[in-house]
Order: sequence, then structure tokens, then C-alpha cells
Amino acid sequence: MVTTRFLNNCPRCGYVAEAWSEDGVFVNVRCKMCGYEGRLPHPDLKNGAWRVG
Ligand SMILES: [Zn+2]
Repeated sequence: MVTTRFLNNCPRCGYVAEAWSEDGVFVNVRCKMCGYEGRLPHPDLKNGAWRVG
């Protein structure tokens, strides 16, 4: 599996946070601004397998 690194807005403070995906389904987010760490659905999947809203 390829680890993909990109940037994602922090869900807590909205700052641009470091994000990476290990499995292509979830992304790990780590925000340097507020210290948030967590997992979110991969944004690239919102229009595909993931239906949000
Ligand atoms: Zn944050």
C-alpha cells in the first residue's frame, strides 16, 4: 500500500493540517495549530463510494 500525503483542513480549528492515508479509505489528520489528531473518511471518496449528506 502506498501512503499518500496531502493537506486537509482541520475539523476542529479549520487550519490547514497535515494528512495522510494508509489504506485509501481513511485519512489520518494531525493539526499543528490545535493539536488535533484523528481519522476522517478519505476526501477523494466523497463522490464515489462515500455518499455524504
Ligand atoms: Zn486544528
